[in-house]
Amino acid sequence: MKRLMRKCIEKLTPYPPGKPIEELERELGIVGSIKLASNENPLGPSPKAIKAIKENINNIHRYPDGSCYYLRQKLSKKFGLPMNKIILGNGSNEIIKLVVHTFLSPGEEVILPFPTYLMYEKIIQSFAGKIVTVPLFNFSIDLSAILTAVSSKTKIIIINNPNNPTGMGLNKKDIFQFLHSLPSDLIVILDEAYIEFSTDPNIASSLELLESYPLLVVLRTFSKTYGLAGLRIGYGFASETIVDSMNRVRQPFNVNYLAQAGALAALDDDEFVEKTRTLTQDGLVFLYSQLDRIGLGYIPTQTNFFLIKTPLGAHETYQRMLKEGVIVRSMESFGLNDYIRINVGLPEENKRFIKTLEKVLS
Ligand SMILES: *Cc1c(COP(=O)(O)O)cnc(C)c1O
Repeated sequence: MKRLMRKCIEKLTPYPPGKPIEELERELGIVGSIKLASNENPLGPSPKAIKAIKENINNIHRYPDGSCYYLRQKLSKKFGLPMNKIILGNGSNEIIKLVVHTFLSPGEEVILPFPTYLMYEKIIQSFAGKIVTVPLFNFSIDLSAILTAVSSKTKIIIINNPNNPTGMGLNKKDIFQFLHSLPSDLIVILDEAYIEFSTDPNIASSLELLESYPLLVVLRTFSKTYGLAGLRIGYGFASETIVDSMNRVRQPFNVNYLAQAGALAALDDDEFVEKTRTLTQDGLVFLYSQLDRIGLGYIPTQTNFFLIKTPLGAHETYQRMLKEGVIVRSMESFGLNDYIRINVGLPEENKRFIKTLEKVLS
């Protein structure tokens, strides 16, 4: 008998997504739950995106523009980079997959910090890549330890800045030095899914490093600050050569019609992005002060989510909060058994989270 599944897939377990509200309410027979588990935008989608999607709904019998021309044009203007250095994906996750699919041969190594976003390892495993993990240092990505881990088999390094789930960002100066200490044949993915939330001026985006490090891929998403996670659209910047190579394996219609329309409008919605940032900062101030009052430890963040240390342990806290209709993320699968991760919600959601946390801990 032939082996049915590819060997690398046999060992793969599916990504554990945050529990959807609908599922929780169906299971427990409750209503009015809140979800603070997937770093989604609590304000909902960008209103400009909603309007554009409604206006375009009657065109969905057409295939979308396979080149995402207008989106690349607008992103090109916004970020001052040529259109042929921009690629759109079905979420930025698809672009991670495109990089790995295009460049990683079975057995070649990818260096990942740990803990970081779990999707990276799933994608690498599915292409039979070898994962080399480098532990965080004080919850931050340890660039010098990553440098030490580089070997002749290393092909790709993935860095999430700021890092999910710890919320820590890297200094631009340090990234610059890091890139210039690497052998020049390594692809570096800098996933900047949360960069718009960062308030530390030293943690600026690495877009300007694209010039000096030709194998850099910088990723962004519409899922968080623009509130469009359900549409599935993200974008990446890389050299013309890298974009060209990825376009060979990219499906022609990977970004659907409504996603393109919504994202195009969302890019003009500076007001919404600003509102999101303010809500996040105000929410963090409130949540930090309440956790200080209760006496719980937490890791200050450069994003819209952060880690909280719980004396009950991650799993028990998650379970008890769930029964109260508050969905948080247990950090067990990230190797942080005493931590939960929450994202900032609306003011009333933040209050409910604190009240529920106090209840389950007492
Ligand atoms: C949420 C998130 C993304 C966004 O992925 P999409 O596919 O664009 O929705 C990317 N990277 C990290 C680390 C994230 O947490």
